Amino acid sequence: MTEYSVNRTTFDEVMVPNYAPQAMIPVRGKGSRVWDQKGREYIDFAGGIAVNALGHCHPQLIKALKKQSEKLWHLSNVYTNEPALALAQRLTDISFAEKVFFCNSGTEANEAAFKLVRKYAFDHAGPEKHEIISFKSSFHGRSLFAVTVGGQPKYCEGYAPVPAGVTHLPYNDLEALKATISDKTCAVVLEPIQGEGGVIPADAEFLKGARALCDEHKALLVYDEVQTGVGRTGEFYAYMATGVIPDILTTAKSLGGGFPVGAMLTTDEVATSFGFGSHGSTYGGNPLACAVALEAINLINNDQVLANVSSKHELFRGELQRINETYGIFKEVRGRGLLIGVELTEEWHGKAKEFLAAAAEEGLMMLVAGPNVLRMSPSLIIPDEDIREGMAAMERAVAKVVNA
Ligand SMILES: *Cc1c(COP(=O)(O)O)cnc(C)c1O
Repeated sequence: MTEYSVNRTTFDEVMVPNYAPQAMIPVRGKGSRVWDQKGREYIDFAGGIAVNALGHCHPQLIKALKKQSEKLWHLSNVYTNEPALALAQRLTDISFAEKVFFCNSGTEANEAAFKLVRKYAFDHAGPEKHEIISFKSSFHGRSLFAVTVGGQPKYCEGYAPVPAGVTHLPYNDLEALKATISDKTCAVVLEPIQGEGGVIPADAEFLKGARALCDEHKALLVYDEVQTGVGRTGEFYAYMATGVIPDILTTAKSLGGGFPVGAMLTTDEVATSFGFGSHGSTYGGNPLACAVALEAINLINNDQVLANVSSKHELFRGELQRINETYGIFKEVRGRGLLIGVELTEEWHGKAKEFLAAAAEEGLMMLVAGPNVLRMSPSLIIPDEDIREGMAAMERAVAKVVNA
């Protein structure tokens, strides 16, 4: 086995500088706890950015991965495989979807969705019907098409020319959507809760209205559930809480519980436009990824686990409120289930990263969502005592920043 002799300085020497990771290097995780190179322990409220839905190294995921790793690693899509078929069967049983396309990330799931909505409109109405409506502050990944549909102009800067035919409207603004959608619109794309954009939930009326307008103009409704999906909100998919059913749903992050996998879910009718040869992925449907994802779903899609997600949300809220009674720096706590955003008061706007760094020093891994919002997306089965211990670290971090 290879031994490693690397540290944080190595990062600056050999890695492209598009990330700026924290000073410590985690080497081991168990449940909602992580240890760094120096043996220091952390509580994990980041969950690998809403990925480690069952914490680190869940014994049943290890078992599924080991079992599959001794049978078959990879085939490509020239052949199909049992784990991929079983996972597709499970996803179609659970959701509105009748057909599944597998890939390896959220970006790729969205790329597939954005290509499919164009192709479907092309097949049924012709090339004129190609306009995609998206929303400001949305995030759909980092490929050129994904940053173009995403509503954060900073991610497009320097990459022009970008794909044409994409419009961005204010989120939750049904009137703006009504005024803009037309028979040239092929799709409306949205996150039921904007994650990266600051943990901003969609209004139920906005979602219902978007569905009705899409039907009126024969446009497809695409839900990007890459961050909200797989139990994160207390429903298996966030759409299930609203009664609004999309035509296409993209899912990744928690889907593999830490193993890279993504999927685009859709109906029989829409799937027809992805005929033989129209799209593809070498690794999509990889047996290792699908075996782990199937096990993850079997563990997460359980009434008790999903109900606990909602009760753990309340515990987070209570602890945050308690901290805020002393420090008064949180303007609002937003989100559902275990996707929680804490907007700082105006005085602290722009300083979310300072709290992140202070939290790391106090033994807590956490996230931000933009410059003003602290974000938490822990394991869906994080023990209540880990939440309390993490919140004690959070309180120490807040005190440090406020009293600095
Ligand atoms: C993280 C995220 C993506 C991108 O997923 P990757 O796996 O990083 O490609 C897309 N959409 C949403 C809503 C996300 O949160």
